[in-house]
Amino acid sequence: MSTFSISRIGTYRDCPRQYKFAYIERPQVEFRDTVEAFLGSRVHEALEKLYRDKRHEKELSLDGLLEDFNKAWSENWAEKILIVRKDYTAENYRLMGERFLSDYYRRYAPFEEGRVIGLETRETVPLDDEGVYRLHVRIDRLVDMGEGLYEVHDYKTSSGLPGQEKLDQDVQLAAYSLWVRRRFKDFRRVRLVWHYLAFDKELDSWRTDEDLEKLRRELLKQIRTIEETTDFPPVVSILCEWCLYRSLCPMWRHEAETERLPENEYLSQPAVKLVDEYVRQKAAFDVFRREAEEKLGKLEQALIALCSQELQNEKVSVVVGSENRVTVKEVEQVKWPAKSTEGRDRLTAALKDLGLWDRVADLDPHALTRILKDETGLPSGGRDILESFLEKEKTYRLTVSKKS
Ligand code: SF4
Repeated sequence: MSTFSISRIGTYRDCPRQYKFAYIERPQVEFRDTVEAFLGSRVHEALEKLYRDKRHEKELSLDGLLEDFNKAWSENWAEKILIVRKDYTAENYRLMGERFLSDYYRRYAPFEEGRVIGLETRETVPLDDEGVYRLHVRIDRLVDMGEGLYEVHDYKTSSGLPGQEKLDQDVQLAAYSLWVRRRFKDFRRVRLVWHYLAFDKELDSWRTDEDLEKLRRELLKQIRTIEETTDFPPVVSILCEWCLYRSLCPMWRHEAETERLPENEYLSQPAVKLVDEYVRQKAAFDVFRREAEEKLGKLEQALIALCSQELQNEKVSVVVGSENRVTVKEVEQVKWPAKSTEGRDRLTAALKDLGLWDRVADLDPHALTRILKDETGLPSGGRDILESFLEKEKTYRLTVSKKS
């Protein structure tokens, strides 16, 4: 039996190499909680206690809520907690937590909407009929609103606010709803609710039974893909800054190793020397290539001009040097209207009228040219219409060969 979490699936999606470290190789690395994760945990605990007390008919005041939060903060804080954004201190984050909770408290007190039936749940739900694949379900707060309507609430302490489109495609809370649907016989609908505490905002999205079914199949497919793959490429992104395995990762390992060296030792490392020399040579080559291309361009223009003059009278298309000859051949290049031009819009309309649109999706110029060549596939008059969009441009091809 395989039990996956949404974050495990997300790790594979974001960086397969990180997935391999975390779930397959499991190397011993020093785990350092980030201040963002620490803040999230303390806020979640405080809100869980708020609703737990409420369930036990005990009112928790705002002062009491903040007192619980601050007590847990100081009891759990450790110097090794990582603060990636160096402009801020732990105190800044603690004050943020106080603000999140104060705003939340004032907005929702006396916390009586619906019946809370789950807090920080620890469940699993099968994704297939045989129960071979299961999913962990961690709901911050599950609320029964009556008449088959359930709400899955999630607290977010992140400093980004998603758009509605992203929420409508969110997988995490929707996946947890698979458990709600299975667990409660009267289930009819589910409302997914996110509390973006940094913005004092409540955002939501709805899922139908068909949406959930589609998601179940999709998750199953993703898990099977992960289980079958043997390829775990690293994907560099902003997430690398928080990655526990950065010092082991092939994309960062050398940098991490050399960072620790004093400058003298660092600069004399063979790999560092190699990279420096490579970059120097590449820069020199780029300058040389630019200059050579410029010179060649001028020489080509001069040869073309020479032959054009001569061509009119004596049809000269080959000129000779001391050891080589250059053949100047006129070739015709065709160009279709470029993107975002009025000509392109008219061409699109013409292709649709001619019933050719499906054959040239995205207006691939090669597909268009193939259609023109294929006489039999064109409706009558089609060639003239398409050719009216063509711009013909004369260019020259120069080839060098040894004199015999
Ligand atoms: S450091 Fe970046 S690329 Fe490497 S495993 Fe971690 S997330 Fe992936």
